[in-house]
Amino acid sequence: MEQKMDCIFCHIVSGKIPGDIVYQDEEVIAFRDINPQSPVHLLIIPREHFTSLADITDKETCLIGHMVGVANQLAIDESISGDGYRLVINCGKQGGQLVPHLHMHLMGGRQLSGQLG
Ligand code: 5GP
Ligand code: ZN
Repeated sequence: MEQKMDCIFCHIVSGKIPGDIVYQDEEVIAFRDINPQSPVHLLIIPREHFTSLADITDKETCLIGHMVGVANQLAIDESISGDGYRLVINCGKQGGQLVPHLHMHLMGGRQLSGQLG
């Protein structure tokens, strides 16, 4: 599994940096965001390093589907599925991506604004 030496999320995957991990399998891990914007704010990331969504090709579309499936299950586990939640993938500079390792935000537990940016 390809990882990047200077990537903070690769370090969470390898255990070099601690993360509050709530789920893991062979392909992905999920952990709590260090600066949560809502009562539930998890990040779902592939173990493999992809810099952003723009690096995803047809080969990895299953991976994105799996990330959505994991997020949906975590929403159930975190008891936010019924009231609703939001999945967000920021891509690149103008997309607001700060950490250059592909990640999906799962946010919920409060009324989120209708604004997308
Ligand atoms: P982005 O803007 O790239 O979509 O979101 C990056 C997210 O990663 C932010 O919500 C930020 O709080 C979170 N984050 C950044 N560094 C760390 C870290 O070391 N640990 C955890 N758990 N979250 C982090
Ligand atoms: Zn990485």
